[in-house]
Amino acid sequence: MSKQVRVRFAPSPTGPLHIGGVRTALFNYLFAKKNNGVFYLRIEDTDQTRFVPGAEAYIMEALEWLGISPEETVGKNEKFGPYRQSDRKDLYQTYADQLINSGWAYYAFDTPEALDTLRKEQEAEGKTFIYNHTIREKLDTSLVISADEVAKRIANGEHYVIRFKTPVDETLHLKDIIRGDVKFETSLLDDKVLFKSDGMPTYHLANIVDDHSMETSHVIRGEEWLPSMPLHVLLYRAFGWDAPEFAHLPLILKPVGNGKLSKRDGDKLGFPVFPLEWKTEEGISSGYREKGFFPEAVINFLALLGWNDGTDKELFSLEELVESFDLNRVHKSGAKFDPEKNKWFNHQY
Ligand code: GLU
Repeated sequence: MSKQVRVRFAPSPTGPLHIGGVRTALFNYLFAKKNNGVFYLRIEDTDQTRFVPGAEAYIMEALEWLGISPEETVGKNEKFGPYRQSDRKDLYQTYADQLINSGWAYYAFDTPEALDTLRKEQEAEGKTFIYNHTIREKLDTSLVISADEVAKRIANGEHYVIRFKTPVDETLHLKDIIRGDVKFETSLLDDKVLFKSDGMPTYHLANIVDDHSMETSHVIRGEEWLPSMPLHVLLYRAFGWDAPEFAHLPLILKPVGNGKLSKRDGDKLGFPVFPLEWKTEEGISSGYREKGFFPEAVINFLALLGWNDGTDKELFSLEELVESFDLNRVHKSGAKFDPEKNKWFNHQY
């Protein structure tokens, strides 16, 4: 690998860290160590409505207990930090303005009523509502109203969002280290919101600006973010930046039905879904630490839920995991628990 490996774990502090998140952190850690790289922590806290006090401290404590603390944490690195997105608001504003000036983004004075009318119109014609080129010029946006009028509305404190101007018809052929070749049609993508009039960026803009400015070489994250990959790649293109490499990890799934393993599933099956205990007014959610598990056992268990070294070896120390880790051996399918057989298996979709 020619460039310095820099990978990150980028949780949103919306609650305690789930074991799926711990596994994402672990795979980033292993990949960094294996490649003499750096593993850093970035707190993605731009959505203030979902912010949970104590979650950031919980994340740091859990990673420390597990022995996979990042080298660079919140605010520690002078060159790249701080790593808390709420501390970097001005930077995102600058980049949102840059996209407006280069024609890759536009102001939209959307009202829920106007969107609703358009949605109904489209549905009456049997079409799926996608907020894209078929819609954007029918609304009050800076694509149709004059620059003076836009400035006036903003000065009057009118609510607006900045949206990405998705290319009309393009097939994106992208590469994911785990999934291989993936194809996306831009005609199916919405013009996503990048910035809001409250001065806050959305996850997409902040994530790309940070991964670029913090020199992330590989984005290793949960598969729930795979649908965001085309927008992210387009944003790198819009800024004229090289995109990092991507690896989307399969999920730890519910035993029955679809979606991620939840706390309720864990309660039913009798095992925690959190590394440490988490206390709120509603009660206590159990954690592996308080149940008396050794951190090494939790690490070993989580690593093998999504990866193997090609042999039937089942016990690995952290050092041995670093030694054997290879992203190309991460499973493509999610991990699911079979309560009848009392064991985990890899679920084929
Ligand atoms: N903040 C996102 C999360 O909570 C991170 C997604 C990413 O790693 O790009 O999962």
